[in-house]
Amino acid sequence: MALVKWDICCQPMKVGSFGLRRLVPQSTSFFMKLAYQIVTKPDTLWVRVLRSKYKMLDVCPLLVNRSNYSYVLRSISNVWDQFRKNLYWSLGNGRSVSFIQDVWIVDLGPLHEHLYSNVVILAHLKVADFVDPDGCWKWSKLRHYFSSEILDYIVVCHAPNDTLGNDTCLWRPNVNGRFSIKAAYKSIVQFDVSHVNAGWKEIWNNALPPRIKHFLWLVMHRRLLTNCKRVRRRLTNEAGCLICGGSQETVLHALRDCWFATEAWMKIILADCVFIFFELDLAEWVSANLRGEFGIGSGGVESRVIFADLCWILWKNSNKYIFQQVIGKVEDMVRSTEYFAVNVCETNLKGSRSRESRAVMARWCSANHGWIKVNMDGATNKNGNWSKAGMYYGTYLGIGLKGLEDLLGGAWLGYSKVIIEIDCMMAVDMIKECLGSTPSMALVKKIKEVS
Ligand SMILES: [Zn+2]
Repeated sequence: MALVKWDICCQPMKVGSFGLRRLVPQSTSFFMKLAYQIVTKPDTLWVRVLRSKYKMLDVCPLLVNRSNYSYVLRSISNVWDQFRKNLYWSLGNGRSVSFIQDVWIVDLGPLHEHLYSNVVILAHLKVADFVDPDGCWKWSKLRHYFSSEILDYIVVCHAPNDTLGNDTCLWRPNVNGRFSIKAAYKSIVQFDVSHVNAGWKEIWNNALPPRIKHFLWLVMHRRLLTNCKRVRRRLTNEAGCLICGGSQETVLHALRDCWFATEAWMKIILADCVFIFFELDLAEWVSANLRGEFGIGSGGVESRVIFADLCWILWKNSNKYIFQQVIGKVEDMVRSTEYFAVNVCETNLKGSRSRESRAVMARWCSANHGWIKVNMDGATNKNGNWSKAGMYYGTYLGIGLKGLEDLLGGAWLGYSKVIIEIDCMMAVDMIKECLGSTPSMALVKKIKEVS
């Protein structure tokens, strides 16, 4: 008997769920991964066999769909359109990228959406076909196809050039341009996270044992099998509370408003908070307690653990009464809860100490004789319209890839032995790997040349 809908279980944790994945979008993501490999790894054996057998000549065909395809390729063809919509291209020689069908100016999308209504450009024409032998865009042609606003976007694009190597295929849902199943899944399943309730975060980010987190999760969804719920599921005829005779045994009644629950809470909350404590609705009550607003215990983690554990014990006690007609003493419940909280806090403390002991301290070291060391950091605004870079000998301000290029391009005042330290791991990976699957590939290649 499921207490919570599968759809809710598959939502992200920040909107109140487990973050499980739905099987169909997950399967689609796996096929997208195969599609991505067909485009980006043409030299692997299975891709070579597939391309050869089914005569796939283009690097990224517009359409993959034939009746004689194998099961796997048919499955890939089913997701092909969706897959292509998530691609964008960093231009190299421009021979693989369709001028109007592929996305090579991210802000515009495919250029066929911006053509004048009375003109047509064939889909198989590549970006390189719109560059003249001198390496400049063919403006005389382009002016017939696009408005001046669109031409403004094209003019700032690096015209394709054979020296830049092959075009680079990038995956739009991921910031670093590389494919990942996680990003693919997110691009398929769009969740509405506008109603994120801080209460969920309080539950999952707590140092509580998993079984109690799960219990609180059910509480927040009002999915405990109280008598009110059991009546709806035809498991009983009595919706009232068997302990106090109240007419409705709701979640809030069982955990807070029944007499023995009220008695237990009165022993641990501050007298000043009594009124508000018993006035809040369920979601607010749980959230406020997880934020430690009622002065339970010594505050912080202990306060949250006591609250959660006492809820858990009160619920167990309520069930015990229904099924065994036995009810525990309020004092015993409170004492065992406080004891449990102390144990949990001590365990957390030990865990955090052992984590601290694994931390590696790093400090700046000067360069050896004859070398010069430069440290860099950078800043960019959210739209990526500008970036700021700066550097000083020994200390630093500012940088990303662009700054690194500027720095290397400057040949550093005649120094040939220069050590550069940068805190942007993504930039370091790009330069080290230089796999041809990163954004700004032309820039990375220039940096490699200089270094
Ligand atoms: Zn009751």
